[in-house]
Amino acid sequence: MTPSRTPSRESALSLFLRGLFWSGLIALLLIAWSPTDIPHFSLSELWQRASRNSPAIALLPTSTVQPALRIGIISGHWKNDSGATCPDGLEEVTVNHAIALRVQAALQQAGYKVDLLAEFDPRLKGYRAAALVSIHADVCTPNPDYTGFKTAPATGVQDAAQLQNSLHLKACLDARYAAITHLPYHPTSVSRHMTEYHAFNEIAPTTPAVIIETGFLGLDRDLLVNHPDTVAKGIVAGILCYLRNEPVHPPTPTSAP
Ligand SMILES: [Zn+2]
Repeated sequence: MTPSRTPSRESALSLFLRGLFWSGLIALLLIAWSPTDIPHFSLSELWQRASRNSPAIALLPTSTVQPALRIGIISGHWKNDSGATCPDGLEEVTVNHAIALRVQAALQQAGYKVDLLAEFDPRLKGYRAAALVSIHADVCTPNPDYTGFKTAPATGVQDAAQLQNSLHLKACLDARYAAITHLPYHPTSVSRHMTEYHAFNEIAPTTPAVIIETGFLGLDRDLLVNHPDTVAKGIVAGILCYLRNEPVHPPTPTSAP
């Protein structure tokens, strides 16, 4: 049988019409479903949505208020030597230790892990902590000018952030210690033993550290010996100021319009 041409012509027309129909439908679908409808969430958008849905979630400033942070307290000269001495036999090491024990107890009470460290404690090598403070006191010489405290920060030779954080810790200690003990700051007696303190070169370069000379054993003796709770309170307040990122200075007034 010879194939007729009519069915094949109909089939071509039908194919053409069907093709026209489908391509039109696809075009309509593409227009209706614009690419902006495709779900695309950036991380920041997801965070914003999560924040909107749960307003109780807040970003906390730095790593400050986590209770299990480790803090190192060096009890100056402990397990090594007497430190400064007075004619009546009073030794700096004893004064420092009474203060250091109180600082340790108060920080533990606040929920921190506290290492009480000897002057040349083997744990100081590569020591990592949220903060390290070494507690010392200055000479017993009855010079009328010898009253007051001073601090020195770790140098940050290997890590610039260490110096920045140590300066922040120092600023907190200076402000809180002065406010609580009423001792003046005594800048002229900051020695190289402080600025080049041995522990600064032993601890991990990421650990913020400060050495404090709490006062002079001569003129500040009453405070240091008879009121170690006050001295410790000043140091603890300084450390907590740093860990909690509290403002150190009163807010600077903005310039008048
Ligand atoms: Zn000392």
